[in-house]
Amino acid sequence: MAKTEIITQNSEETERAGEILAAEILRGEIVAPLVIGLMGDLGSGKTTFARGFAKGLGVKDKITSPTFVIFKKYLFSAGNLYHVDCYRIKDAKDLAELDFSETLKLKENVILIEWAEKIKNILPKDTIWMNFKYLDENKRKITA
Ligand code: ADP
Ligand code: MG
Repeated sequence: MAKTEIITQNSEETERAGEILAAEILRGEIVAPLVIGLMGDLGSGKTTFARGFAKGLGVKDKITSPTFVIFKKYLFSAGNLYHVDCYRIKDAKDLAELDFSETLKLKENVILIEWAEKIKNILPKDTIWMNFKYLDENKRKITA
């Protein structure tokens, strides 16, 4: 499949990209259970994208970075959004106590994971992978 690449010029545009993906999911163009793996360095826009994604799904709560808690769960009309951040973990074994493999299987879950490459071995084959790259102070490249 051909790669899609966009360059965003500010945080709002990166949020907007997240909202667009969420809209596709809500329209049923992409079917749950759904795992979205975000890769890219610190500051490359992953959490910003996640914020827009949550907004697009209709999550009412404010999205904050889950770095210190590994994941946060939010409700939206069709299920649960899990926002996961693997920055502080070493590999998938660190998630063993969290029942994470169950979470990945449930149809009502949409799971968006920052630093997902660290736990690649436990993620489903149909995970949607996205790469984030810092170009300059305001520019980010998003490839999917
Ligand atoms: P990550 O989760 O990948 O570490 P964040 O989304 O937390 O990245 O941080 C991105 C930072 O860069 C935010 O402070 C944001 O406001 C800023 N920023 C500037 N331009 C952009 C852009 N085009 N896209 C995303 N973030 C941007
Ligand atoms: Mg982040």
